[in-house]
Amino acid sequence: MIRAHFFTCKGLIISSIIFGPITSRRFGQSLGIDLSPNVKQCNFDCLYCELKGAKTVDKANDTPSVERILEALQSAMKKHSHIDVITLTANGEPTLYPELKRLVEGINAIKGHHKLLILSNGSTIATPSIQTILTEIDMVKLSLDCISSECFKKLDRAHKGISIDGIVEGMKAFRRVYKGELIVEILVVEGLNDTEEEFQALNDALQAIQPNRIDIGTIDRPPAYAVKGVSVERLVNLSQHLKGLYVNIAYTKNYIPQKRTFTQEEIIELLKRRPQSFEDVRLCFDEQSLKHLEALVSERILHVKEIAGVRFYTCE
Ligand code: SF4
Repeated sequence: MIRAHFFTCKGLIISSIIFGPITSRRFGQSLGIDLSPNVKQCNFDCLYCELKGAKTVDKANDTPSVERILEALQSAMKKHSHIDVITLTANGEPTLYPELKRLVEGINAIKGHHKLLILSNGSTIATPSIQTILTEIDMVKLSLDCISSECFKKLDRAHKGISIDGIVEGMKAFRRVYKGELIVEILVVEGLNDTEEEFQALNDALQAIQPNRIDIGTIDRPPAYAVKGVSVERLVNLSQHLKGLYVNIAYTKNYIPQKRTFTQEEIIELLKRRPQSFEDVRLCFDEQSLKHLEALVSERILHVKEIAGVRFYTCE
């Protein structure tokens, strides 16, 4: 899972291993650690990757040592004490880092009150030793773009031996043992995973996995191969298939939504179907509806819940 995926500003790079802090709408102020700073090392070759397409690998051989990373992190943390998260990422897949266990132990020993986050493509989640390591990380974000083998093969182009069924089963098993915040990301590509059928299948899998949050987005930077993203309206429609789950849609800056009027009863019904993020509400509720919503919150009929840095209105 590439570091540029969430962190767009590269002007603040401290060293080739540590980058940021960068403001992420999804996770707050983040200091990133790149576990593959020199070369892309990934067991996927996603069509939408922001890095050049590359042959898949099942091991990362060109990596900085644990000692070098911890030293660089410690010095960056001295300069940037205000960060929310330390993010493990890579130009590739961070769980391929050969000494991930020792690295996570080392970061946990020095990170103080900061949370540790990993951005993974989910490919290794069925491996028991990886599951054990990830249970020591505060927030784990895994990708799950589609459920059908046909779509997975075309879109994520995984290294041989990796199956989408294995990934889904691995996510379910991981959820049973993981007490931290689990986020699943779906990246939607036109003509591939943008169908009702794929989202119904995703909903079935996600109901079983029960992540704390689902992030849905689409291509917003030049991809490795000739594929296109979908409109925000399409993302909103597809997200309706994900019932009762905390869904966070990546709205583009130029998106102009239609503001709607809701009665108090309609707001309660809407939130019974699915919690709404603060951003959803800000974009889609008119002024009167916002007043109704605030009244329901102050009467404790509705509640505010923060999940891995994103706030939602919910009935729970
Ligand atoms: S998981 Fe996909 S998007 Fe992320 S680095 Fe690998 S090929 Fe690129």
